Amino acid sequence: MTTQVVTRFAPSPTGFLHIGGARTALFNWLYARGRGGRFLLRIEDTDRARSTPEATQAILTGLTWLGLDWDGAPTSQFEQRERHAEVAREMLANGHAYKCFSTQEEIAAFRDAAKAEGRSTLFLSPWRDTPESQQPDLPHVVRLKAPREGMTLVKDEVQGDVTIRNDQLDDMILLRSDGTPTYMLAVVVDDHDMGVTHVIRGDDHLNNAARQAQIYAAMGWPQPVWAHIPLIHGPDGKKLSKRHGALGVEEYAAMGYPPAAMRNYLARLGWSHGDDELFDDAQAKDWFDLKGIGKSPARLDFKKLDHVSSYHIGRMADDDLVNEIERFLAATQQPTLSQVQKDGLSAAMYCLKDRAKSLPQIIEKAHFVLISRPLDRDEKSRKALDDVSRGILTELTPQLQNASWTRDTLEAIVSQVADGHGLKLGKLAPALRAALAGRPVSPSVFDMMLVIGREETIARLTEAAAD
Ligand code: GLU
Repeated sequence: MTTQVVTRFAPSPTGFLHIGGARTALFNWLYARGRGGRFLLRIEDTDRARSTPEATQAILTGLTWLGLDWDGAPTSQFEQRERHAEVAREMLANGHAYKCFSTQEEIAAFRDAAKAEGRSTLFLSPWRDTPESQQPDLPHVVRLKAPREGMTLVKDEVQGDVTIRNDQLDDMILLRSDGTPTYMLAVVVDDHDMGVTHVIRGDDHLNNAARQAQIYAAMGWPQPVWAHIPLIHGPDGKKLSKRHGALGVEEYAAMGYPPAAMRNYLARLGWSHGDDELFDDAQAKDWFDLKGIGKSPARLDFKKLDHVSSYHIGRMADDDLVNEIERFLAATQQPTLSQVQKDGLSAAMYCLKDRAKSLPQIIEKAHFVLISRPLDRDEKSRKALDDVSRGILTELTPQLQNASWTRDTLEAIVSQVADGHGLKLGKLAPALRAALAGRPVSPSVFDMMLVIGREETIARLTEAAAD
């Protein structure tokens, strides 16, 4: 029987969902969802100062925006602290941990002496083998009785076999002198208790894995499958930082990239499936595996993101795009759409989504369906409506009264009127655009006419001619 895959995302609340964290969450989600497994969320909130409800909420909001759903309720690491302590006591009882009474001063003195003598400064506690009967009733920490000889092996699906000599790892603290568990213990106990089978996370945790492997060994628990993924770098190949621009997923939401596009883009940041660049969730879930994760850091590439985004926008159903735009407007604190605007947007979407790289680009192009008369024209549009073109519009309008409202007929009528003035169609377009949209960015004039219909077209042309 194969066991069900269980993955998890275990962020520490920092106030926002980092793009690297989002990618880690996505990899775990894809891995589980592609295998009928479970994807769990654990908030590592043991740093009480940083772990505010708002900071946790920012992570949930970011994941929800990205479309990554988790199974069950998120768990809180802090709330499990009693269980962590219980496991430490179990290790004390089975001889895999010991109470260490060395004070900070004694440890510092140990290190100073080791340094002076040119020995390793790794602390070797004198209490490691002291029988309980000889232990004082004093404050103490609980340390892991880690093996002193041999190697600890981390079999990593991305990094390969990583071995660390045990004499390079000290007896790590499991419980502090105030009885609180350390991070290293908490992670292992939580992952074990949650039944996590695969730990997929940033390679900044690779060193922790060796220590965590020792705790698994001490408890006789099977280790999970490890996969430490290289961190994301900026476009210049340097470690990602603020100066590279957007770090939090909410910034990508504010730039108007649809979540489906972000999922596709983030999946390709460090993972590949042959030459496939553009894919949907079903394909990603089907294809995602740990073998496809590269060993070198992936670089953020906004051009590529635009390309991926444009692909997804072009493929999305019109009504889904309208919903996405509403979500975008709400998230960026912009006014909501009226029913008339929504209907207009739906009707126009076929000529708005082509080549749009982000939702704001659609909104800009959609201006002509979002406005109502009298039109507020920008300067370029006002200039386009000179005396000559206003005269032409006046001539054109009556001809539209009884024309059949099709692209071919409209094109024929407008071309004929332009011809009559010795003009090419293209010369008339700016005036028509100014009359219909009041802005230079819009779909083609014929698309606008078709979308807003005869009555509104005539009304806008009449208004522009009289302006
Ligand atoms: N809480 C850790 C972090 O945010 C992740 C720990 C883990 O995935 O094991 O970096």
